Amino acid sequence: MTDTMTRPKITVVGSANVDLTFRTPRLPVPGETFAGHSLHQGMGGKGANQAVVAARLGAEVAFVARVGNDGFATQAIDAYQTDGINTSFVQHSKDQPTGTAAILVDDDAENCIIVVAGANAELNADDVRSAKDVIAFSDVVICQLETPVEAALEAFKLARAANVLTMLTPAPAELVSDELLSLCDVCVPNKTEIAAITGCSVETQADCAAAAEQLRQRGVRQVALTMGGEGVLVLDRSGMSLIPASPVKAVDTTGAGDAFTGALAVSLAEGMSLADAATRAGIVAAISVTRVGTQTSFPSLDEINRWKQ
Ligand code: ADP
Repeated sequence: MTDTMTRPKITVVGSANVDLTFRTPRLPVPGETFAGHSLHQGMGGKGANQAVVAARLGAEVAFVARVGNDGFATQAIDAYQTDGINTSFVQHSKDQPTGTAAILVDDDAENCIIVVAGANAELNADDVRSAKDVIAFSDVVICQLETPVEAALEAFKLARAANVLTMLTPAPAELVSDELLSLCDVCVPNKTEIAAITGCSVETQADCAAAAEQLRQRGVRQVALTMGGEGVLVLDRSGMSLIPASPVKAVDTTGAGDAFTGALAVSLAEGMSLADAATRAGIVAAISVTRVGTQTSFPSLDEINRWKQ
């Protein structure tokens, strides 16, 4: 284990959710009540997922987020602390619950999902400013848009002022603005997101390359476009390159994009090129898709090192 002087420093500004997964024989119709098979409680939210991945890979991680004043908040914070995450900047909202997703999955693997943003919707620029010093001492600041855009804008402005690398998961894509893109060093969309932001088709790799180039023209410095089992298309100063995904048997791809993004931030903080960082992050994401669950599927540094040998 490296010491605190040399550990990569990552600040994540974003969402914290509790995911409740109900397994049911089928999806209910209005007015219906029947017995489900099982209930599983897990931790989610893109922000929390990315923070957990980065911490498991050995980074010193600070998480800027909002939870409620409820039992879910206590459980979430306990879980983040177990992963060694600095939770000093996780604020408690008085009147809103911790963000919660109710996920219904039937025997045919069809699902219905309801997400209540709750306290996530109250994350604001002042919350981010309270973490100004930790942002300024970070190597990378990561944002997504499941919390208000004003929080992401403030985080990127503070990061830019301190010469800290900014990384964006542009989801939900409809919230992306040109101002945000102009403050973004590394944008990490998936195909659906880049199609929504640029209006480009993403059928072929040439289409994807054109979409990535459009993001760069709108102010993003580098793009890592994740393409599921196809791998990642990287656009940096030296041009475009395709990094194929590791061949694995995928059983649950939930959270793959977050595993990739958190790991990419750590590798960039360690000084790797975008292409090398994307190769390593692809391994982290590939391991995560071989296991069920979101945060429970994210590997530790030991596992990554064993995978390489
Ligand atoms: P999201 O979860 O945001 O939809 P993707 O599906 O593009 O993101 O997955 C993110 C990354 O996870 C991919 O670029 C790849 O590295 C890895 N990945 C996803 N699915 C697979 C798979 N079936 N096999 C191997 N790696 C995968």
